[in-house]
Amino acid sequence: MGIQRDIAGKVLKATRKTYAVSIGGEIVNCTIRGKLVTDKSGYNSVKVGDNVKVALVDEESGVIDEILPRKSVLSRTIESRAYQEQIIAVNVDQVLVILSTRNPKFKSGLLDRYLVIAEKNHLSAIVCINKIDLAPPKKFHSYQEYYTHLGYPVYFTSALTREGVDALEKIFHQNVTALVGHSGVGKTSLINAIEPRLNLKVARISERTNKGQHTTSSVELIPLSDEAFVIDTPGIRELGLWDIYKKDLQDYFLDIRDYAQECRFADCTHINEPGCAVKSAVETGEIFKERYENYLNIYHSLKSAAYE
Ligand code: GDP
Ligand code: ZN
Repeated sequence: MGIQRDIAGKVLKATRKTYAVSIGGEIVNCTIRGKLVTDKSGYNSVKVGDNVKVALVDEESGVIDEILPRKSVLSRTIESRAYQEQIIAVNVDQVLVILSTRNPKFKSGLLDRYLVIAEKNHLSAIVCINKIDLAPPKKFHSYQEYYTHLGYPVYFTSALTREGVDALEKIFHQNVTALVGHSGVGKTSLINAIEPRLNLKVARISERTNKGQHTTSSVELIPLSDEAFVIDTPGIRELGLWDIYKKDLQDYFLDIRDYAQECRFADCTHINEPGCAVKSAVETGEIFKERYENYLNIYHSLKSAAYE
């Protein structure tokens, strides 16, 4: 067989030198053309999620010739690298924030952090509260009502009993969905509940691409079908709030942003200024008090400017 050019594929996984590319549902091991090897930050320019054009050498190997335009970029801060930005994945359609009712305990502060990251990356977000077999969902109905009203759909699931899993499954169709959430909330269990064959598939990708090489990142696009992919990102601690400064935080809190337009001062931080419409809305209950407290916590953790 001769070399076949311009074959469309999607990058599922990156190791230092090779990439697992899905071509029509088959995994092909690819290297990349020299011109694509590094971008300005020193990382390889091909990212997980990239739609690429491949020159197919044989059935199992090829060379990535071209990266097609990206529609979104999901990035994070690497604190040990002086707040350098690292791209986690590209062409992500939506973020699914997974929390659990218990073990680990539900924390709305964590939810709001993830929602800020989603807004900052211009990604729509969906919320899933898992492990409803451990605590009654009615305890969380006020959250469901509030966040749904903000535009974030809220699903309740149990990966153990499968309650709510079929309803959740529909959100994955024809999308690349990034799963985020603390370790232990049930991300892996939910994905396996949705696609039991996956255990096999995941193992196969790793096997094919790992041939004695170090993975530079554990980010991986997992195919649920030919058109649905999920990304299981590494732990929360590394997911910093890249490039967000104090004054901009309100832009990523949709409710606070709405009320902020009515504040007396244009540069109101909504902490203790007079005539603050946000604080009034918290007092009347129009803004969830817990959400406002989460805003304050995140606000105090951020820098005022790039070189503080
Ligand atoms: P991940 O770290 O987010 O991928 O979480 P895992 O899927 O590894 O799950 C962590 C632990 O929680 C495992 O012991 C699972 O068996 C358990 N678990 C996951 N989902 C549920 C659930 O819906 N209910 C209960 N009771 N346990 C669950
Ligand atoms: Zn204000």
